[in-house]
Amino acid sequence: MKVTSSDIVISAVKPEQYPDVDLPEFALAGRSNVGKSSFINKMLNRKGLARISSKPGKTQTLNFFLINEILHFVDVPGYGYAKVSKTERAAWGRMIETYFTTREQLRAVVLIVDLRHPPTEDDVMMYNFLKHYEIPCIVIATKADKIPKGKWQKHLKVTRQTLNLEEGDHMVIFSSETGEGKDKAWALLESYM
Ligand code: GDP
Repeated sequence: MKVTSSDIVISAVKPEQYPDVDLPEFALAGRSNVGKSSFINKMLNRKGLARISSKPGKTQTLNFFLINEILHFVDVPGYGYAKVSKTERAAWGRMIETYFTTREQLRAVVLIVDLRHPPTEDDVMMYNFLKHYEIPCIVIATKADKIPKGKWQKHLKVTRQTLNLEEGDHMVIFSSETGEGKDKAWALLESYM
């Protein structure tokens, strides 16, 4: 997809604030610092769009981006940040669960993991949560530029096995530095629209 327009439309906390339009939607999830904002910006050809309020300590909101007037990306606040209080963590959980389980426009969740390391316990938990609710998942294994190309397949296998990836769920090797995987990721997203 050639992205010609992208803008944040709302930072939502409650369902009443979700955009009331019937456009296909993709949520983006990942642990803090995994490279989620960089992924969004790369996919949208924007530099600083997905930074707003996604950093730890900022308000935890679902940020809706309207793309080419035909679909939404929803940036989900990162998980696994140690310094978040129990209360905040619980609020995050409720917000995510409500969104994932009630949003009819949601076509798939893009789960961002780090290709260099096996997925964390939190990554596995997020993946299992999606599977429990039968939400299609596209795994983006990012920061590929940080390891030699000859090791990509080995790392991909570890990622697949650690998540216990189901048949039908796709995985894409990605780099926000080089743009590796960008076309493949868009093609996959479009196949869910
Ligand atoms: P977020 O917290 O998940 O939104 O993570 P960010 O997108 O802010 O990225 C965290 C750090 O990783 C930043 O310093 C980025 O520049 C870096 N980063 C993200 N993606 C890549 C990538 O594909 N390659 C490299 N080399 N660095 C990346």
